[in-house]
Amino acid sequence: MANTPYPQSYYAASANPVPPRPALQEEVQTDVCVIGAGYTGLSSALFLLESGFKVTVLEAAKVGFGASGRNGGQIVNSYSRDIDVIERTVGPKQAQLLGHMAFEGGRIIRERVAKYNIQCDLKDGGVFAALTAKQMGHLESQKRLWERFGHTQLELMDQKRIREVVDCDQYIGGMLDMSGGHIHPLNLALGEAAAVESLGGKIYEQSPAIRIERGANPVVHTPQGKVRAKFIIVAGNAYLGGLVPELAAKSMPCGTQVITTEPLGEDLARSLLPQDYCVEDCNYLLDYYRLTGDKRLIFGGGVVYGARDPANIEAIIRPKMLKAFPQLKDVKIDYAWTGNFLLTLSRLPQVGRLGDNIYYSQGCSGHGVTYTHLAGKVLAEALRGQAERFDAFAELPHYPFPGGQLLRVPFSALGAWYYSLRDRLGF
Ligand SMILES: Cc1cc2nc3c(=O)[nH]c(=O)nc-3n(C[C@H](O)[C@H](O)[C@H](O)COP(=O)(O)OP(=O)(O)OC[C@H]3O[C@@H](n4cnc5c(N)ncnc54)[C@H](O)[C@@H]3O)c2cc1C
Repeated sequence: MANTPYPQSYYAASANPVPPRPALQEEVQTDVCVIGAGYTGLSSALFLLESGFKVTVLEAAKVGFGASGRNGGQIVNSYSRDIDVIERTVGPKQAQLLGHMAFEGGRIIRERVAKYNIQCDLKDGGVFAALTAKQMGHLESQKRLWERFGHTQLELMDQKRIREVVDCDQYIGGMLDMSGGHIHPLNLALGEAAAVESLGGKIYEQSPAIRIERGANPVVHTPQGKVRAKFIIVAGNAYLGGLVPELAAKSMPCGTQVITTEPLGEDLARSLLPQDYCVEDCNYLLDYYRLTGDKRLIFGGGVVYGARDPANIEAIIRPKMLKAFPQLKDVKIDYAWTGNFLLTLSRLPQVGRLGDNIYYSQGCSGHGVTYTHLAGKVLAEALRGQAERFDAFAELPHYPFPGGQLLRVPFSALGAWYYSLRDRLGF
């Protein structure tokens, strides 16, 4: 049987030690079968176990193998499209509910880390950096918008102030969100998996769900076993493939790449990011970076529509890093990897039910570290029969990508090219 290892990332190299988990080789009975051990699956499992459900998690590879164990580690509040877009798309009641939930995911992460004593280098403080006056204007309205929904840990920064927190001369200002921050993402996932097991949940690795028998008593099949469950939660996101064909039609897997420098040493690291905040710029195709616990710089950026793996990641990302920090020109890159997130046309998450007993959440389109933790809570509420918040997500409209399955990649790349041109020219 295939044994899929982690990609060779900095995270895999610095993961906290965990015991190996078995593959499923029997038939088991459970209340909820969760497919996928990323943040969506693990957060769902934890909330369900805390509510008294019996939970079995099936993971095709290893805990955190997908985006949850490879991402930039940035705790970014709200969704990949902000609440103003939601307000324009849906009615006021739904917008109110979704708006107030937009800041819950970060709180859930902090509660999890504290309650289960998860060692994942959690740091507070995230910066949105503006490269143009238009982007700065957008941050000003974003602050007003977020404050309307009760989110107040925000500070607008002028050019002088932002230089105090990041030694990069490209920015004309920015916004600091002290409830943002950063984590070692794989260690967060591994800690959450350990918490699942501490509450009696079962996690099987190297156990892909290969078929779902739908109906009143659904069964999930793996190559060597099966799980009979009352409910199924599909949490495979960009790595799900064709298991649930309905879910593939209105979303598109996309790749994004990350590099990690050698350790920079305290002085150089502190000169770049004196308060150890993470940073993302405000471009459509954005750059994001932060320091690790051992003072390396992790730098990510770019999107590959359709999730093909680029041949030379360092050649794509290093020039972006040197544009922000030319002082790193002699610094060696120790790790480079790629990971897939799932894009929807609206950039809002795709949430819903298939029949009475199959639930899903996917497609948070780039910013998913906080949303996926919220998704677990909202899915667990729905399974407990309190579906108001779940339905607020489930009612968001979703559309297929222009060009259909065949042309959606070039059409999306064209759209992204247009928006990045607007970023560069500032209109
Ligand atoms: C490189 C990169 C950088 C990113 N940076 C950030 C960031 O800094 N901040 C931020 O907010 N977001 C970021 N994101 C997005 C964020 O990581 C994701 O939105 C989030 O982790 C998605 O979690 P998930 O659990 O839904 O999916 P995943 O973490 O992808 O988990 C899905 C899991 O399901 C498993 N699976 C799939 N199919 C099956 C099956 N049939 N049977 C069993 N298991 C299956 C997969 O193996 C995988 O482990 C980034 C994403 C990438 C790729």
